[in-house]
Amino acid sequence: MSDEPDWLRIHKALAVEAQYNYTDLQGQQYRFSEFLSLSFGKPPAHTSFDDRNHWRNLAFEFADYHNLTLADRKELLSKASQFLTFAEEVAAKKRHHPTAPVSAANDSAQSPPQSNIATLQPTKKVLPPVSSIVRENSGNLELGRSLRDIPSIGIRKADILSKLGLFTVKDVLYYYPRDHIDYAKQVNIIELEPGETVTLVGIIHKFNFFTSPKNKKLNVLDITLKDETGHLKISRFYAGTRYSNRGWQETLKRKYPVGSWVAASGLVKQGKYGLNLDNPELEVLSEGDTSISSLKIGRVLPVYPLVEGVSADTIREAVVIVLPATEKLKDPLPKVVREQYGLIDLPTAIRHIHFPEDSDTKEAARRRLIFDEFFYLQLGFLQRRHLLRQIQTEAVIKPTGILIDRFNEILPFQLTKAQLRVVGEILGDLEKTAPMNRLVQGDVGSGKTVVAVMAILAAIQSGYQTALMAPTEVLAEQHYRKLVGWFNLLHIPVELLTGSSKIAKRRQIYRELETGELSIAVGTHALIQDKVNFRNLGLVVIDEQHRFGVFQRAKLQQKGSQPHVLTMTATPIPRTLALTLHGDLDVSQIDELPAGRQPIQTTAMNNRQRTQVYELMKREIAQGRQVYIVLPLIEESEKLDLRAATEEHERLATEVFPEFKVGLLHGRMSSADKDAALSDFRDNVTQIIVSTTVIEVGVDVPNASVMLIENAERFGLSQLHQLRGRVGRGEHRSFCFLMSSSSSNDAKQRLQVLEQSQDGFWISEMDMQLRGPGQVLGTRQSGLADFALASLAQDEEVLTIARDAAEKVILQDKDLSQSPGLKAELDYRFQKLMGGSILT
Ligand code: ADP
Ligand code: MG
Repeated sequence: MSDEPDWLRIHKALAVEAQYNYTDLQGQQYRFSEFLSLSFGKPPAHTSFDDRNHWRNLAFEFADYHNLTLADRKELLSKASQFLTFAEEVAAKKRHHPTAPVSAANDSAQSPPQSNIATLQPTKKVLPPVSSIVRENSGNLELGRSLRDIPSIGIRKADILSKLGLFTVKDVLYYYPRDHIDYAKQVNIIELEPGETVTLVGIIHKFNFFTSPKNKKLNVLDITLKDETGHLKISRFYAGTRYSNRGWQETLKRKYPVGSWVAASGLVKQGKYGLNLDNPELEVLSEGDTSISSLKIGRVLPVYPLVEGVSADTIREAVVIVLPATEKLKDPLPKVVREQYGLIDLPTAIRHIHFPEDSDTKEAARRRLIFDEFFYLQLGFLQRRHLLRQIQTEAVIKPTGILIDRFNEILPFQLTKAQLRVVGEILGDLEKTAPMNRLVQGDVGSGKTVVAVMAILAAIQSGYQTALMAPTEVLAEQHYRKLVGWFNLLHIPVELLTGSSKIAKRRQIYRELETGELSIAVGTHALIQDKVNFRNLGLVVIDEQHRFGVFQRAKLQQKGSQPHVLTMTATPIPRTLALTLHGDLDVSQIDELPAGRQPIQTTAMNNRQRTQVYELMKREIAQGRQVYIVLPLIEESEKLDLRAATEEHERLATEVFPEFKVGLLHGRMSSADKDAALSDFRDNVTQIIVSTTVIEVGVDVPNASVMLIENAERFGLSQLHQLRGRVGRGEHRSFCFLMSSSSSNDAKQRLQVLEQSQDGFWISEMDMQLRGPGQVLGTRQSGLADFALASLAQDEEVLTIARDAAEKVILQDKDLSQSPGLKAELDYRFQKLMGGSILT
């Protein structure tokens, strides 16, 4: 009977081991514990899924036998012996009725076995606590220990985990789940009730994948699940033609093979053809794997952020293994602070964030850990700020001088009060011996560029070089033009350095920057290349700074010795958020638009009103104005996107506006072509420009008065506001039309925000509420703000107390020399977050 365990031999081994006082006897081939572990590792064929878990749990417990106390060993042996008797009976039944579903799942291994056999009742899966499933020798679980050195993880899995940046025990403890699936509320198919969120565990009975005959873009995965009580069809939807292919079908087939066990979790709905689960979470339960299956069913299961090539189970298993190490975790946060803010202790929080007992323990854990995320970030900022204050810059810049005077004379307009105030703040910083680190926030069109130019001139007239970096070539080129216009009058040479600068030009710029001949370079990322060296860089200006990563900003800064740094952004963010994201910066606000700006009349509309829009455009152009037509990026493919843009351009140029010149601008054009398209538009050679979102940032053509944004529902509000800011820059009355074919209420509501408001702050606040800050600010920014748990929109209260707590700490202990625990934790976190110390 090859597929059955040697029952007798196992019984005998148990008896002998007990007789010899649980000393883990060495047999001919194996030690007692090894033999038992091996035997329980091979359940007989046809063992039910749940019973397999019992087999495996026992296998694990025996693998850990040498770590157990005498009492634990005794208990394990008696448990094993009972289970064995019971399992033997199940196997005997199976031999007689091979098709009957047999389950012992109502029972745990310790309870009397006789009552549980061959039941057809809906089963409730009761499992031992997670901690009893996998155990690692606690001596192996030092917090700093490399995962590679932990036997139950092993080198192969440790290497896989390193892809997630997890190298040590502590790293895994701090790898928080992004969600939990409540497998605890597990029901059988027969028990489903509409309106409840539940988990079912069943076998995939049928698999069907097809493209909807009505909608070619909609692909449907139909799976029929079967458990002991019935069948249920569940569907998942994949929108987009990229899924309508065999490749995807095969992928899904491999992912969800017929016959495999899956857990499906979701909301029960009453559909046309009976009950179903609404687009559920599906997870294949790996039967072949070791212990992990039993980690899932009947539990609140953590769901971790994944990357390619790391399975959910690998992470869960590692977490379970290292979880006991929380005992070694010292909470660096003083008890008084915890009590003051009503926070639970760190070890408990970490245990409960992974495996909460219920939603209350989960919430308490989340609150504590979110506090930590904010607290250490603020602590880092405050400390950094403190340290930076002590650093001396070589560039002490005078706030007055001939260049600034002359510039004031040639400026064709008066600075607004807000501009004057911010210029004052900047010049004040530049005078100091500590390097400036200031962010200027100002809504689109508020006139940030002139403000930066003031700072640049101050630096130049004091004998320092400056660099102005912008995120796109289009924008860099535009700044360059503007600066050339002004600086020619002041006899200051300006050069433009971008990826597409010609080699000879580039060499010349490098040389002139090194000798100090050139005192201002405008450019893109090309400015941070290694070849670029300055003689005495005193001021760095970064426009649209949220589009750059932390490191790119730092890199430019390192081209000088502690230069002053001025950053600018047009994505205004609420104050609390600004503190969080830029806690180490001083923030200035240009909260006033230049006089004479008329509000942009914004209207959401649908296709039927299109002709009216075209008519209005024609009238505007007849009066000398110009027009933007913006097309969204179609995420599926850049090629499609390009084709859509070219086709639309063609249509507009030949059918709609044959009497005008229509230009085209998109990201795939060479930069010379982009330049040409933009300067044609700037010079009114073309009256209409059809563009993708390339024009989003910074393009400044005051004569343009109409913008039409196609498929506006696809953009975020802040992005629409930015786009819209391309018009209304001159004295003319301007219009923005938001074309949308979406009839969803949500989309309408969002577009209404723009119809009603011109206030970038309010709009971005609404946007963050509707989409979340990560989406709004882009992932780049998250270099710093990438919280595992915290949501900037929802956790403001915790943010405030964390900032408060951090300020108090720094007030008493500036360099954290009296709080080594906090300092160590801070270093650890910054290392993880930024791959460097807080001072790099
Ligand atoms: P943004 O803050 O969006 O970068 P810009 O610096 O590009 O705005 O300025 C927008 C336009 O307003 C430019 O044409 C600029 O010359 C003009 N401008 C800036 N300040 C003033 C002012 N105080 N009065 C009138 N026009 C101004
Ligand atoms: Mg700008």
